[in-house]
Amino acid sequence: MTSFTPAFIVHGGAWDIPDNEVEGHLAGCRVAAQVGWSILKKGGSALDAVEAAIRSLEDDPAFDAGKGAWLNSAGEVELDAIIMEGATLNNGAVAAMQHVRHPISVARLVMERTTHSLLVGLGAEHFAQAQGISLCDESELLTGQELERWKVIKAQKDFKVEIAFGGSSTPHGTVGAVAIDVNGHLAAGTSTGGTPNKLQGRVGDSPLIGCGCYADDLSAGVSATGWGESIMKVVLGKAVCDFIAQGHTAQVAAEKAIGVLADRAQGLGGVIVIDRSGKIGLAFNTPRMAHAWITDEQVITRAD
Ligand code: ASP
Repeated sequence: MTSFTPAFIVHGGAWDIPDNEVEGHLAGCRVAAQVGWSILKKGGSALDAVEAAIRSLEDDPAFDAGKGAWLNSAGEVELDAIIMEGATLNNGAVAAMQHVRHPISVARLVMERTTHSLLVGLGAEHFAQAQGISLCDESELLTGQELERWKVIKAQKDFKVEIAFGGSSTPHGTVGAVAIDVNGHLAAGTSTGGTPNKLQGRVGDSPLIGCGCYADDLSAGVSATGWGESIMKVVLGKAVCDFIAQGHTAQVAAEKAIGVLADRAQGLGGVIVIDRSGKIGLAFNTPRMAHAWITDEQVITRAD
């Protein structure tokens, strides 16, 4: 069997990252990229690399995932995550789930231990517990700064989340990862606390197959981030894979899909991509997107 050269990429959200937060976001991406890469280099699976890297990003309060996630309009943390493998198209996701530190791992359990794709709310929480994951108190997911930011947003009568992605420093980064392993298998995952001040029970693009994430060994693996309601309109993750299946490179496919997001949905966001040959692509139309990738030739960490 041919041995593929692995490749790995992570993102930490596409938004207007303030100058003083850029280094924190890049540091978190760098660490997560190394976590995933070390698994791939040892011959580990793309799925393991994606899960481990996203767990590291979920632990980092700089990002809007796991610890440090945005609060909903009721002041609660509700988390969404998805993981998908390109060999089988198997996928698992959770949405609007509370009291769990690592939603990406619950998503993987949904994929591997149920016949379903998506569990939500209390059902997802009960499933996690039944699988041996210990629940946490909400206070363990908070750093203190979310509450301050939430109060500021609550005080803004005309707050619009779509404007926040383009030109204000309110959202802070959803996370995602894409990997190709030595067997040529792709995997992708995404994890988020959603958008600031979202309504209770709101589910964005992140945990929806084809929107916030897609992986198909015949085309590519993709993780998306940005204004979820616009990403859902154009099924962004699958759109990237379809452009690749039409013969475009990973980079051109990423740019074309972000073009569709902007033109058809006046959307804002970004995507990271690895195609079936291990080529990296990424694009975003927000001011910045924190990301890091590692291949045999290069280690890159950037926000713009
Ligand atoms: N896409 C996420 C959502 O709408 C937010 C983000 O990527 O920052 O829930």
